[in-house]
Amino acid sequence: MFRVSQFMQELSQPTPLVGRRDPPGPVVIWNLIRRCNLTCQHCYSISADVDFPGELSTAEVFTVMDDLKAYGVAVLILSGGEPLLRPDIFEISRRAKSMGFYVGLSSNGTLITNDNIADIEAVGYDYVGVSLDGMRDTHDRFRRKPGAFDDPRIHFAVNCASIGCPVLREEAYVASRLDAQLEEQTIRFLSDRSRNRYNVNTQALEVSKVFDWYRKDFDSGLHAIETLQEFFAMYAHLLADTAPDRRAISAGAVPIRFLDYDWNLNDAER
Ligand code: SF4
Repeated sequence: MFRVSQFMQELSQPTPLVGRRDPPGPVVIWNLIRRCNLTCQHCYSISADVDFPGELSTAEVFTVMDDLKAYGVAVLILSGGEPLLRPDIFEISRRAKSMGFYVGLSSNGTLITNDNIADIEAVGYDYVGVSLDGMRDTHDRFRRKPGAFDDPRIHFAVNCASIGCPVLREEAYVASRLDAQLEEQTIRFLSDRSRNRYNVNTQALEVSKVFDWYRKDFDSGLHAIETLQEFFAMYAHLLADTAPDRRAISAGAVPIRFLDYDWNLNDAER
């Protein structure tokens, strides 16, 4: 496995050479679950998006974990299949951490969302690995899932000088916080009623032309979102003021209209 972030860190801050060290113990890459939401060309685990019989229960995983510890295993890389499809993945991870293992999570990344990112952080993994096979076309071809690479929220981070575009962020985007930064930009953009809103008179969603131009990026299946309606459903609370209107948006039951884009230049103070 080639770790890009580690490679770049070594280039900028090389680890000093030391004498020969005995390894602390075996490394176990543990395929905890066979189920996976992708069907990569190179998959060796013969996965599919179904529940396979014979998977270890939580108690059985704990028993194996005890055996691995007794054997002197130092490192557990929790993998699959897609490990985030195990409902008990965080329970297993916390126990592994409390037992003193170096614990990694090896995920295809497509199921890391705002709903579970705090849980992932709370475990305190020593390493979280997300596989990238190349840039978008290469990655999606290998993963056999259009949109596996793309994140449509990038459109809320791209600016021009016109009034209609998303606001310029006050800080640089950094890899370690990119997901949170993109999410904040998304919330800012969707919360701006001059650009996106539910019209109570017409009972329609009136949204930025950005969603029309880049619709295919929102329809691409990223994070299980396959339509623009599903995307707006996740943010219904930002787009409407009342519970019934939000429920209608969440149900995908309102028409979508695209507002004219305001190409006038921002009137920046000098
Ligand atoms: S993400 Fe991993 S487990 Fe899932 S299909 Fe691809 S290679 Fe197989």
